[in-house]
Amino acid sequence: MDSPRTAPRALATEAVHAGRDDLARQGLHAPPIDLSTTYPSHDSRGEAARIDAFAATGAEPDGPPVYGRLGNPTVARFETALARLEGTPAAVAFASGMAALTAVLLVRAAAGLRHVVAVRPLYGCSDHLLTAGLLGTEVTWTDPAGIADALRPETGLVLVESPANPTLAEIDLRAVAHSCGSVPLLVDNTFATPVLQRPAEQGARLVLHSATKYLGGHGDVLAGVVACDEELAGQLRQIRFATGGVLHPLAGYLLLRGLSTLPVRVRAASANAAELVRRLGADPRVTRVHYPRVGGAMIAFETAGDPHDVIAGVRLITPAVSLGSVDTLIQHPASISHRVVDAADRRGAGVSDRLLRLSVGLEDVDNLWADLDQALGVPSRPTTDTTALQGAVRLS
Ligand SMILES: *Cc1c(COP(=O)(O)O)cnc(C)c1O
Repeated sequence: MDSPRTAPRALATEAVHAGRDDLARQGLHAPPIDLSTTYPSHDSRGEAARIDAFAATGAEPDGPPVYGRLGNPTVARFETALARLEGTPAAVAFASGMAALTAVLLVRAAAGLRHVVAVRPLYGCSDHLLTAGLLGTEVTWTDPAGIADALRPETGLVLVESPANPTLAEIDLRAVAHSCGSVPLLVDNTFATPVLQRPAEQGARLVLHSATKYLGGHGDVLAGVVACDEELAGQLRQIRFATGGVLHPLAGYLLLRGLSTLPVRVRAASANAAELVRRLGADPRVTRVHYPRVGGAMIAFETAGDPHDVIAGVRLITPAVSLGSVDTLIQHPASISHRVVDAADRRGAGVSDRLLRLSVGLEDVDNLWADLDQALGVPSRPTTDTTALQGAVRLS
Protein backbone atom coordinates (compact mmCIF):
# COMPACT_ATOMS: atom_id res chain seq x y z
CA MET A 1 0.00 0.00 0.00
CA ASP A 2 2.87 2.39 0.82
CA SER A 3 5.33 3.81 -1.66
CA PRO A 4 9.07 3.26 -1.12
CA ARG A 5 10.70 6.03 0.93
CA THR A 6 14.25 7.26 1.08
CA ALA A 7 14.62 8.73 4.60
CA PRO A 8 13.15 7.32 7.83
CA ARG A 9 10.25 9.39 9.08
CA ALA A 10 9.81 10.69 12.61
CA LEU A 11 6.91 9.50 14.76
CA ALA A 12 4.92 12.73 14.31
CA THR A 13 5.21 12.36 10.53
CA GLU A 14 4.28 8.67 10.54
CA ALA A 15 1.25 9.52 12.72
CA VAL A 16 -0.32 11.62 9.96
CA HIS A 17 1.03 9.81 6.86
CA ALA A 18 1.44 6.08 7.58
CA GLY A 19 -1.31 3.96 6.06
CA ARG A 20 -2.19 6.85 3.72
CA ASP A 21 0.78 6.93 1.36
CA ASP A 22 -1.25 5.82 -1.67
CA LEU A 23 -4.06 8.35 -1.25
CA ALA A 24 -2.67 11.30 -3.25
CA ARG A 25 -1.89 8.90 -6.13
CA GLN A 26 -5.54 7.91 -6.11
CA GLY A 27 -6.67 11.54 -6.05
CA LEU A 28 -8.00 11.16 -2.48
CA HIS A 29 -7.32 13.04 0.73
CA ALA A 30 -9.43 11.22 3.36
CA PRO A 31 -9.03 7.43 3.43
CA PRO A 32 -11.96 5.55 1.84
CA ILE A 33 -14.16 3.42 4.12
CA ASP A 34 -14.70 -0.01 2.55
CA LEU A 35 -17.82 -1.54 4.12
CA SER A 36 -17.89 -4.63 1.86
CA THR A 37 -18.43 -7.94 3.59
CA THR A 38 -17.65 -9.86 0.39
CA TYR A 39 -15.56 -9.27 -2.74
CA PRO A 40 -17.01 -10.47 -6.06
CA SER A 41 -14.78 -12.42 -8.47
CA HIS A 42 -15.45 -14.53 -11.58
CA ASP A 43 -12.12 -16.29 -10.96
CA SER A 44 -12.93 -18.97 -8.37
CA ARG A 45 -9.68 -20.87 -9.13
CA GLY A 46 -7.79 -17.71 -8.21
CA GLU A 47 -9.83 -17.31 -5.04
CA ALA A 48 -9.11 -20.94 -4.06
CA ALA A 49 -5.38 -20.22 -4.46
CA ARG A 50 -5.66 -17.08 -2.31
CA ILE A 51 -7.53 -18.99 0.42
CA ASP A 52 -4.87 -21.75 0.32
CA ALA A 53 -2.12 -19.14 0.66
CA PHE A 54 -3.88 -17.58 3.64
CA ALA A 55 -4.35 -21.01 5.27
CA ALA A 56 -0.62 -21.72 4.85
CA THR A 57 0.89 -18.57 6.36
CA GLY A 58 -1.85 -16.09 7.28
CA ALA A 59 -0.25 -13.60 4.88
CA GLU A 60 -2.70 -10.96 3.67
CA PRO A 61 -4.13 -12.09 0.30
CA ASP A 62 -2.90 -10.20 -2.76
CA GLY A 63 -5.79 -8.25 -4.17
CA PRO A 64 -9.22 -8.10 -2.53
CA PRO A 65 -9.71 -10.07 0.73
CA VAL A 66 -12.35 -12.58 -0.62
CA TYR A 67 -14.46 -12.11 2.54
CA GLY A 68 -14.53 -9.51 5.31
CA ARG A 69 -13.28 -11.88 7.99
CA LEU A 70 -9.99 -12.39 6.10
CA GLY A 71 -9.20 -8.70 6.14
CA ASN A 72 -10.47 -5.24 5.27
CA PRO A 73 -8.63 -2.48 3.35
CA THR A 74 -9.68 0.31 5.77
CA VAL A 75 -8.67 -1.70 8.82
CA ALA A 76 -5.40 -2.59 7.03
CA ARG A 77 -4.55 1.12 6.82
CA PHE A 78 -4.81 1.39 10.60
CA GLU A 79 -2.72 -1.77 11.02
CA THR A 80 -0.02 -0.40 8.71
CA ALA A 81 0.07 2.89 10.59
CA LEU A 82 0.19 1.34 14.09
CA ALA A 83 2.96 -1.07 13.04
CA ARG A 84 4.95 1.90 11.77
CA LEU A 85 4.47 3.76 15.07
CA GLU A 86 5.49 0.74 17.17
CA GLY A 87 8.40 -0.09 14.85
CA THR A 88 7.23 -3.63 14.02
CA PRO A 89 6.85 -5.31 10.61
CA ALA A 90 3.10 -5.91 11.09
CA ALA A 91 0.03 -5.33 13.26
CA VAL A 92 -3.29 -7.15 13.49
CA ALA A 93 -6.46 -5.39 14.67
CA PHE A 94 -9.30 -6.92 16.68
CA ALA A 95 -12.77 -6.03 17.92
CA SER A 96 -11.43 -5.09 21.38
CA GLY A 97 -8.31 -5.28 23.51
CA MET A 98 -9.64 -8.47 25.11
CA ALA A 99 -10.25 -10.03 21.67
CA ALA A 100 -6.62 -9.21 20.82
CA LEU A 101 -5.29 -10.85 24.00
CA THR A 102 -7.56 -13.85 23.40
CA ALA A 103 -6.12 -14.30 19.91
CA VAL A 104 -2.54 -14.22 21.24
CA LEU A 105 -3.35 -16.86 23.88
CA LEU A 106 -5.06 -19.04 21.26
CA VAL A 107 -2.09 -18.78 18.87
CA ARG A 108 0.23 -20.07 21.59
CA ALA A 109 -2.23 -22.73 22.83
CA ALA A 110 -2.63 -23.96 19.23
CA ALA A 111 1.14 -24.63 19.31
CA GLY A 112 0.64 -26.72 22.47
CA LEU A 113 2.06 -23.98 24.71
CA ARG A 114 -0.68 -23.39 27.28
CA HIS A 115 1.39 -22.07 30.18
CA VAL A 116 1.59 -18.30 30.70
CA VAL A 117 3.87 -16.38 33.06
CA ALA A 118 2.49 -12.99 34.06
CA VAL A 119 3.27 -10.09 36.39
CA ARG A 120 0.58 -8.33 38.44
CA PRO A 121 -1.03 -5.91 38.28
CA LEU A 122 -2.61 -6.29 34.87
CA TYR A 123 -5.82 -4.75 33.58
CA GLY A 124 -8.61 -6.43 35.61
CA CYS A 125 -10.14 -8.43 32.76
CA SER A 126 -6.72 -9.63 31.51
CA ASP A 127 -6.05 -10.87 35.05
CA HIS A 128 -9.48 -12.53 35.08
CA LEU A 129 -9.03 -14.22 31.68
CA LEU A 130 -5.75 -15.78 32.86
CA THR A 131 -6.81 -16.60 36.42
CA ALA A 132 -10.07 -18.24 35.35
CA GLY A 133 -8.27 -20.19 32.61
CA LEU A 134 -11.20 -19.52 30.29
CA LEU A 135 -9.13 -20.44 27.22
CA GLY A 136 -7.59 -23.56 28.74
CA THR A 137 -4.39 -21.74 29.70
CA GLU A 138 -2.62 -22.00 33.06
CA VAL A 139 -0.97 -18.96 34.64
CA THR A 140 1.96 -18.53 37.01
CA TRP A 141 2.00 -15.10 38.67
CA THR A 142 5.44 -13.81 39.59
CA ASP A 143 7.42 -10.60 39.95
CA PRO A 144 9.83 -9.52 37.20
CA ALA A 145 12.81 -11.06 39.01
CA GLY A 146 11.02 -14.44 39.16
CA ILE A 147 10.22 -14.76 35.44
CA ALA A 148 13.23 -16.88 34.44
CA ASP A 149 12.50 -19.41 37.22
CA ALA A 150 8.80 -19.58 36.33
CA LEU A 151 9.42 -20.65 32.72
CA ARG A 152 8.61 -24.25 31.77
CA PRO A 153 9.03 -26.20 28.51
CA GLU A 154 5.32 -25.58 27.79
CA THR A 155 5.43 -21.82 28.53
CA GLY A 156 4.06 -20.02 25.49
CA LEU A 157 3.98 -16.42 26.65
CA VAL A 158 5.24 -13.94 29.22
CA LEU A 159 2.79 -11.09 29.80
CA VAL A 160 3.49 -7.73 31.44
CA GLU A 161 2.01 -4.23 31.52
CA SER A 162 4.23 -1.20 31.99
CA PRO A 163 3.12 1.24 33.25
CA ALA A 164 0.58 -1.14 34.74
CA ASN A 165 -3.15 -0.60 35.06
CA PRO A 166 -4.06 0.82 37.59
CA THR A 167 -1.02 1.38 39.85
CA LEU A 168 1.31 2.69 37.09
CA ALA A 169 4.03 0.32 38.35
CA GLU A 170 6.88 0.16 35.83
CA ILE A 171 8.99 -2.75 34.70
CA ASP A 172 12.48 -2.79 33.16
CA LEU A 173 11.38 -4.22 29.81
CA ARG A 174 14.89 -4.88 28.52
CA ALA A 175 15.72 -6.95 31.62
CA VAL A 176 12.41 -8.83 31.41
CA ALA A 177 12.91 -9.55 27.69
CA HIS A 178 16.31 -11.01 28.58
CA SER A 179 14.73 -13.26 31.28
CA CYS A 180 12.25 -14.63 28.75
CA GLY A 181 14.90 -16.31 26.62
CA SER A 182 13.12 -17.74 23.57
CA VAL A 183 9.60 -17.38 25.05
CA PRO A 184 7.76 -14.45 23.40
CA LEU A 185 7.29 -11.42 25.66
CA LEU A 186 4.00 -9.55 25.28
CA VAL A 187 3.97 -5.99 26.60
CA ASP A 188 0.60 -4.27 27.01
CA ASN A 189 1.56 -0.72 25.91
CA THR A 190 -1.93 0.77 26.29
CA PHE A 191 -0.89 3.32 28.93
CA ALA A 192 2.40 4.56 27.45
CA THR A 193 1.46 4.45 23.74
CA PRO A 194 4.27 4.39 21.14
CA VAL A 195 4.68 8.12 21.76
CA LEU A 196 6.35 7.45 25.13
CA GLN A 197 7.63 3.89 24.80
CA ARG A 198 8.26 1.37 22.00
CA PRO A 199 8.55 -2.04 23.69
CA ALA A 200 9.60 -3.84 20.48
CA GLU A 201 12.86 -1.85 20.60
CA GLN A 202 13.42 -3.28 24.10
CA GLY A 203 12.90 -6.89 23.11
CA ALA A 204 9.12 -7.44 23.26
CA ARG A 205 7.92 -9.75 20.47
CA LEU A 206 4.30 -8.70 20.85
CA VAL A 207 2.99 -5.24 21.72
CA LEU A 208 -0.69 -5.11 22.62
CA HIS A 209 -3.04 -2.14 22.83
CA SER A 210 -6.53 -1.63 23.96
CA ALA A 211 -7.00 0.77 21.03
CA THR A 212 -10.22 1.79 22.80
CA LYS A 213 -8.03 4.06 24.90
CA TYR A 214 -5.37 6.49 23.55
CA LEU A 215 -5.19 5.22 19.94
CA GLY A 216 -8.86 6.00 19.32
CA GLY A 217 -8.61 8.81 21.82
CA HIS A 218 -12.19 10.07 21.80
CA GLY A 219 -14.13 7.44 23.73
CA ASP A 220 -16.12 6.30 20.68
CA VAL A 221 -14.30 3.18 19.41
CA LEU A 222 -13.87 -0.25 21.01
CA ALA A 223 -10.81 -1.96 19.50
CA GLY A 224 -7.60 -3.88 20.10
CA VAL A 225 -4.40 -4.38 18.15
CA VAL A 226 -1.23 -6.46 18.36
CA ALA A 227 2.01 -5.21 16.79
CA CYS A 228 4.51 -8.00 16.04
CA ASP A 229 6.61 -9.75 13.39
CA GLU A 230 5.08 -11.12 10.20
CA GLU A 231 5.18 -14.76 11.38
CA LEU A 232 3.08 -14.10 14.50
CA ALA A 233 0.87 -11.67 12.55
CA GLY A 234 0.01 -14.47 10.12
CA GLN A 235 -0.96 -16.77 12.99
CA LEU A 236 -3.04 -13.99 14.57
CA ARG A 237 -4.87 -13.34 11.28
CA GLN A 238 -5.67 -17.06 11.01
CA ILE A 239 -7.08 -17.07 14.55
CA ARG A 240 -9.03 -13.88 13.80
CA PHE A 241 -10.43 -15.51 10.65
CA ALA A 242 -11.45 -18.67 12.52
CA THR A 243 -12.85 -17.05 15.67
CA GLY A 244 -14.30 -13.87 14.17
CA GLY A 245 -13.09 -11.11 16.50
CA VAL A 246 -12.71 -8.68 13.58
CA LEU A 247 -12.67 -4.90 13.78
CA HIS A 248 -15.43 -3.03 11.97
CA PRO A 249 -14.17 -0.86 9.04
CA LEU A 250 -15.72 2.28 10.54
CA ALA A 251 -13.73 1.64 13.70
CA GLY A 252 -10.62 1.16 11.54
CA TYR A 253 -11.27 4.56 9.96
CA LEU A 254 -11.75 6.27 13.33
CA LEU A 255 -8.58 4.68 14.70
CA LEU A 256 -6.52 5.82 11.72
CA ARG A 257 -7.87 9.32 12.29
CA GLY A 258 -7.12 9.01 16.01
CA LEU A 259 -3.50 8.08 15.31
CA SER A 260 -2.92 11.31 13.40
CA THR A 261 -3.33 13.38 16.60
CA LEU A 262 -1.90 10.77 19.01
CA PRO A 263 1.50 12.46 19.59
CA VAL A 264 -0.11 15.88 20.14
CA ARG A 265 -2.82 14.52 22.45
CA VAL A 266 -0.43 12.43 24.53
CA ARG A 267 2.04 15.30 24.99
CA ALA A 268 -0.63 17.87 25.90
CA ALA A 269 -2.44 15.55 28.31
CA SER A 270 0.88 14.53 29.87
CA ALA A 271 1.74 18.17 30.56
CA ASN A 272 -1.63 18.54 32.33
CA ALA A 273 -0.98 15.33 34.27
CA ALA A 274 2.48 16.44 35.41
CA GLU A 275 0.99 19.65 36.82
CA LEU A 276 -1.83 17.76 38.58
CA VAL A 277 0.73 15.35 40.06
CA ARG A 278 2.56 18.35 41.51
CA ARG A 279 -0.63 19.77 43.06
CA LEU A 280 -1.92 16.40 44.34
CA GLY A 281 1.50 15.62 45.81
CA ALA A 282 1.43 18.85 47.82
CA ASP A 283 -2.14 18.38 49.06
CA PRO A 284 -2.69 17.11 52.62
CA ARG A 285 -5.95 15.36 51.58
CA VAL A 286 -3.93 13.05 49.30
CA THR A 287 -1.80 10.39 50.96
CA ARG A 288 -0.06 8.90 47.92
CA VAL A 289 0.48 9.80 44.29
CA HIS A 290 1.72 7.35 41.66
CA TYR A 291 3.14 8.70 38.41
CA PRO A 292 5.48 6.72 36.18
CA ARG A 293 8.98 7.78 35.12
CA VAL A 294 7.99 7.37 31.48
CA GLY A 295 5.39 10.12 32.03
CA GLY A 296 2.00 10.05 30.36
CA ALA A 297 -1.50 11.17 31.19
CA MET A 298 -2.45 8.54 33.80
CA ILE A 299 -2.25 9.28 37.53
CA ALA A 300 -3.16 7.05 40.47
CA PHE A 301 -3.62 8.49 43.94
CA GLU A 302 -4.93 7.58 47.36
CA THR A 303 -7.03 9.88 49.49
CA ALA A 304 -7.14 10.36 53.24
CA GLY A 305 -10.93 10.50 52.98
CA ASP A 306 -13.42 8.13 51.32
CA PRO A 307 -12.50 7.66 47.62
CA HIS A 308 -16.21 7.10 46.79
CA ASP A 309 -16.86 10.71 47.88
CA VAL A 310 -14.42 11.96 45.25
CA ILE A 311 -16.19 9.98 42.51
CA ALA A 312 -19.55 11.32 43.71
CA GLY A 313 -18.17 14.85 43.92
CA VAL A 314 -16.60 15.52 40.52
CA ARG A 315 -18.57 17.87 38.25
CA LEU A 316 -16.30 18.60 35.26
CA ILE A 317 -14.32 15.36 35.34
CA THR A 318 -16.23 12.36 33.97
CA PRO A 319 -16.81 9.63 36.60
CA ALA A 320 -16.35 6.64 34.31
CA VAL A 321 -14.17 3.61 33.70
CA SER A 322 -11.91 3.55 30.60
CA LEU A 323 -9.19 6.06 29.80
CA GLY A 324 -7.26 7.85 27.09
CA SER A 325 -10.05 10.14 25.94
CA VAL A 326 -9.84 13.87 25.25
CA ASP A 327 -11.84 14.47 28.45
CA THR A 328 -10.63 13.63 31.95
CA LEU A 329 -12.01 10.43 33.50
CA ILE A 330 -11.82 9.19 37.07
CA GLN A 331 -12.71 5.77 38.48
CA HIS A 332 -12.23 3.61 41.55
CA PRO A 333 -10.36 0.43 40.41
CA ALA A 334 -11.42 -1.72 43.39
CA SER A 335 -15.07 -1.05 42.43
CA ILE A 336 -14.88 -1.12 38.63
CA SER A 337 -11.84 -1.83 36.42
CA HIS A 338 -10.35 -4.40 38.83
CA ARG A 339 -13.57 -5.62 40.45
CA VAL A 340 -13.28 -9.02 38.73
CA VAL A 341 -9.93 -9.66 40.43
CA ASP A 342 -10.09 -11.49 43.77
CA ALA A 343 -9.84 -8.86 46.54
CA ALA A 344 -6.76 -10.43 48.18
CA ASP A 345 -4.95 -10.75 44.82
CA ARG A 346 -5.91 -7.17 44.00
CA ARG A 347 -4.56 -5.78 47.26
CA GLY A 348 -1.48 -7.97 46.95
CA ALA A 349 -0.78 -6.33 43.58
CA GLY A 350 -0.82 -2.88 45.21
CA VAL A 351 -4.37 -1.92 44.23
CA SER A 352 -5.55 -0.50 47.54
CA ASP A 353 -9.21 0.14 48.27
CA ARG A 354 -8.32 3.84 48.54
CA LEU A 355 -6.77 4.06 45.07
CA LEU A 356 -8.35 6.31 42.44
CA ARG A 357 -7.27 6.26 38.81
CA LEU A 358 -7.32 9.52 36.86
CA SER A 359 -7.03 9.63 33.06
CA VAL A 360 -6.07 13.23 32.38
CA GLY A 361 -7.52 14.86 29.26
CA LEU A 362 -7.07 18.09 27.36
CA GLU A 363 -9.11 20.52 29.47
CA ASP A 364 -7.54 23.61 31.03
CA VAL A 365 -5.44 22.39 33.95
CA ASP A 366 -6.73 25.05 36.38
CA ASN A 367 -10.31 23.98 35.64
CA LEU A 368 -9.34 20.36 36.29
CA TRP A 369 -7.64 21.25 39.55
CA ALA A 370 -10.62 23.34 40.69
CA ASP A 371 -12.87 20.30 40.16
CA LEU A 372 -10.53 17.90 41.96
CA ASP A 373 -10.06 20.42 44.77
CA GLN A 374 -13.80 20.70 45.43
CA ALA A 375 -14.33 16.92 45.02
CA LEU A 376 -11.60 16.16 47.56
CA GLY A 377 -13.67 18.18 50.04
CA VAL A 378 -12.63 19.72 53.33
CA PRO A 379 -9.90 17.89 55.24
CA SER A 380 -11.61 15.51 57.68
CA ARG A 381 -8.69 15.45 60.11
CA PRO A 382 -6.97 18.10 62.25
CA THR A 383 -3.97 19.95 60.78
CA THR A 384 -1.38 17.95 62.71
CA ASP A 385 -2.64 14.70 61.14
CA THR A 386 -2.72 16.09 57.62
CA THR A 387 0.86 17.32 58.01
CA ALA A 388 1.87 13.78 58.86
CA LEU A 389 -0.04 12.50 55.82
CA GLN A 390 1.67 14.98 53.57
CA GLY A 391 4.99 13.54 54.65
CA ALA A 392 3.80 10.16 53.41
CA VAL A 393 3.20 11.33 49.84
CA ARG A 394 5.26 9.18 47.57
CA LEU A 395 5.87 9.66 43.87
CA SER A 396 6.41 6.40 42.08
C1 LIG B 1 -8.88 -1.49 28.68
C2 LIG B 1 -7.66 -2.32 28.70
C3 LIG B 1 -7.63 -3.58 28.11
C4 LIG B 1 -8.86 -4.23 27.48
O1 LIG B 1 -9.21 -3.55 26.32
P1 LIG B 1 -10.73 -3.49 25.75
O2 LIG B 1 -10.56 -2.67 24.51
O3 LIG B 1 -11.57 -2.86 26.80
O4 LIG B 1 -11.13 -4.90 25.47
C5 LIG B 1 -6.43 -4.27 28.12
N1 LIG B 1 -5.33 -3.75 28.69
C6 LIG B 1 -5.33 -2.54 29.29
C7 LIG B 1 -4.08 -2.02 29.91
C8 LIG B 1 -6.49 -1.79 29.31
O5 LIG B 1 -6.49 -0.59 29.92
